[in-house]
Amino acid sequence: MENRRVRVRFAPSPTGPLHIGGVRTALYNYLFAKKNDGDFLLRIEDTDQDRFVPGAEQYIIDSLKWCGILPNEGVGFGNGPYASYRQSERKQMYRSYAEQLINNGNAYYAFDTKEELDEMRKRVEASGGTHSYNAITRQNMINSISLPEEEVRKKLDAGQPYVVRIKIPRNEEIRLHDIIRGWVIVQSSQMDDKVLFKSDGMPTYHLANVVDDYIMKITHVIRGEEWLPSAPLHVLLYRYLGWENAMPQFAHLPLLLRPDGNGKLSKRDGDRLGFPVFPLEWQDPVSKELSSGYREKGYFPDAFINMLALLGWHSTGNQELFSLKQLIHEFSLERVSKSGAKFDPEKAKWFNQHYLRSRTDDELADLWLPELNDKGIKAERNFILRVVHLLKEKGNFLNEFWSLGSYFFEAPVKYDQDVIKKRWNEGSAKFLKELVTLFKEVPSFNALETEKAFKSCAELTGTGPGQVMQLFRVAVSGLPGGPALFEIVELIGKEEVIKRMEEFCNKVVF
Ligand code: GLU
Repeated sequence: MENRRVRVRFAPSPTGPLHIGGVRTALYNYLFAKKNDGDFLLRIEDTDQDRFVPGAEQYIIDSLKWCGILPNEGVGFGNGPYASYRQSERKQMYRSYAEQLINNGNAYYAFDTKEELDEMRKRVEASGGTHSYNAITRQNMINSISLPEEEVRKKLDAGQPYVVRIKIPRNEEIRLHDIIRGWVIVQSSQMDDKVLFKSDGMPTYHLANVVDDYIMKITHVIRGEEWLPSAPLHVLLYRYLGWENAMPQFAHLPLLLRPDGNGKLSKRDGDRLGFPVFPLEWQDPVSKELSSGYREKGYFPDAFINMLALLGWHSTGNQELFSLKQLIHEFSLERVSKSGAKFDPEKAKWFNQHYLRSRTDDELADLWLPELNDKGIKAERNFILRVVHLLKEKGNFLNEFWSLGSYFFEAPVKYDQDVIKKRWNEGSAKFLKELVTLFKEVPSFNALETEKAFKSCAELTGTGPGQVMQLFRVAVSGLPGGPALFEIVELIGKEEVIKRMEEFCNKVVF
């Protein structure tokens, strides 16, 4: 085991869009693989035909691509030596493992109909027990343990539908070591004879998952905490299939919790509190309901990944900002916490703000250009670069740039009414008119000179600069706040600033 090349997998079922908890599982698998020079696989676990959702598989692939968490084998990423990586296409193979388990006495055929199972449930519940198909109840059911051999043969020959169930031992202690949680011990009397192979000819998750992990030479199973209850069953399957020596190590990741810490983070919490729980926008193919995504909200993938990485893991120090490369370098499963990680939507924005500011003006200008083109804005590259330089300090997202700074390109059509109510009076009107006169004479219309002119105008008219500064900002930009005012003034230029001030004085009456 020690010398095996590290191979991990992300194994989602295509039952809907990928929740951010799933993306975090993929990310931790990826980081662990890269850190250990290993392989990261994407396997699509689509054996449950009833829960199959069209488009979900492509959504998973697109999400991983957007995040930059790229598998080196798997559906959508080029096939490696163990293709296919889609379980429905490996269907034929699982049957032989189910048969092997039956032949060795570790699994059995069960012919019970739905009605018979319901009846058993009712009977057990009526006598105060909890319903379970197990070492005790299996004796009274219709299966290859309770029936004579010829009868079983007859049923099989007649093509009667059956499932294959694992034969869980009656009283045995099952131990497994989890890298995050330590030793987990479960009594087999608490487990039930789970179905391994269904009457539709498909394996269940349990059988397919274990068989594929073994065949694909997976060394570490890193997955969500909700799979911990299945792990003892998987341990038994490794044992019964004779693969115990190749059993992967387990690491069950903590849940992502709601912002208040009460319960698992769900789509409903996102809708209620106004943040996405999916990486990309998703439209439900049946209800047509649209769910928002981090990409469409304007998050940068590296900010999103950085935020997710810290939900359940921390580095040795207090550092919070990590590039993907740094994450790979720092990551270890030992520092993943056992307890759930509270999701903080404000912190998510904080991460994006940081990544926005660390982009160069050139990068941001390139990213913004399509929107400006769409709006028919024609401006010099240099001008856009300077605008971007000022705006990136103010917003959390690139998609806020237009609402934060359209005035750099167009005169405002609306003025902030609160500021007007508070500051617009005869004195301030006089001030603005005087300032226009001074601006006309400013030798060179830059931030420094215009600020000087503003100050002398205040002195000249006996106005406190604080009384008129915000009003002047509103006259030029329409907005009550923004980047350094005289930088804006310099960028917009003499003629346009004066025009806007005059227009403001004419339009706004008190
Ligand atoms: N198909 C399971 C899921 O949807 C995979 C769990 C595992 O990683 O074993 O999450």
